[in-house]
Amino acid sequence: MIALMLPIQPIGGAELTLRGLAKHWPGGRALDHVSITVGAGKFAVLLGPSGCGKTTCLRIAAGLEQPDAGAVLIGGRDVTHLPPAARGVAMVFQSYALFPHLSVAENVVFGLRARGVPKAERAKRLAEAAAMLGLDKLLDRRPGQLSGGQQQRVALGRAVVAQARICLMDEPLSNLDAQLRADMRREILQLQRRLGMTMLYVTHDQTEAMAMADQVILLRAGHVEQDAAPAELYAHPATRFAASFIGTPPMNLLPAGALGPAPARAETVGIRPEAVRLERGGLPVRVEHVEYLGADTNLTLSLAGARLVARVPGQVALLAGADATIGFDPAALHFFDPAGLRLHIETEKAFA
Ligand code: ATP
Repeated sequence: MIALMLPIQPIGGAELTLRGLAKHWPGGRALDHVSITVGAGKFAVLLGPSGCGKTTCLRIAAGLEQPDAGAVLIGGRDVTHLPPAARGVAMVFQSYALFPHLSVAENVVFGLRARGVPKAERAKRLAEAAAMLGLDKLLDRRPGQLSGGQQQRVALGRAVVAQARICLMDEPLSNLDAQLRADMRREILQLQRRLGMTMLYVTHDQTEAMAMADQVILLRAGHVEQDAAPAELYAHPATRFAASFIGTPPMNLLPAGALGPAPARAETVGIRPEAVRLERGGLPVRVEHVEYLGADTNLTLSLAGARLVARVPGQVALLAGADATIGFDPAALHFFDPAGLRLHIETEKAFA
């Protein structure tokens, strides 16, 4: 665990703004006027399916790639044409990018050497980072002699010693197993809070995004689909796509009238599995599949030809093939128009 009581000076973060970024590759468009602002010291997650442009955004922010249009601002200053080393940004890659022939200590301070930081200062920062990340006993080892989690810590150590105001991370946990991922998730978050740096973190894992972020930026096919706090994204998904991307299992999406009256402009109604209850006298359904998970049970149900999943607490005495009835709070319904945009039911008077 990270030694949180260590008297390290918080670095403090800087505001990061990506303004109207556009990027085309020979194969097509990767980014289409992406605008994002991450407040100083905030933890923002870029979330989205494979190929939606997350890594491209991050590489442009780092200065490893030039945008075709748009600007990158750090602390209000336009850095679009500055090289990576002049931006005051640390980056942690999925592959860790460690040098196999260098020791842990040399790997951690490599960037500082390259920047000409004096030896005494390098030693001081290395000692602080090593204590913070539990690397003290591993400093003489080579990366090949470390576990995946330890290698991950070395990569984090580089970001710590850089004392950058902005840290960019690209799927840093994807090479770790589930348990270690959960532990490292906590450690990265504690580290970011402790140092106060601004974080832009890429993942395609919505659980990771929800668990870590102050702000989730959901990207889809090169544009920002929704930019909101995790609770807002969960409670008020702005689009059908956002609704289907967040939540396990994801939100049920059915033809608009499947669960009762719907606004006239609605094409789709959504309800989260956890909002569906087994209830006497409710809508009749047939149980198709029962998946007992310990704390909950996922029931796959068919409702007049449509299929939906209910996530109910504990274990239920129902088998596949059984008839049941379900209920829900009408306030738990989400409606989307034919373009996939959320309808705000408070303002939709015309219920069918
Ligand atoms: P993943 O989660 O799979 O890493 P991503 O959301 O990070 O995906 P990007 O790596 O940013 O997506 O890629 C966005 C699009 O741009 C993809 O269609 C990809 O094939 C394309 N692309 C990325 N880098 C290049 C490149 N150097 N040359 C050509 N096309 C590229």
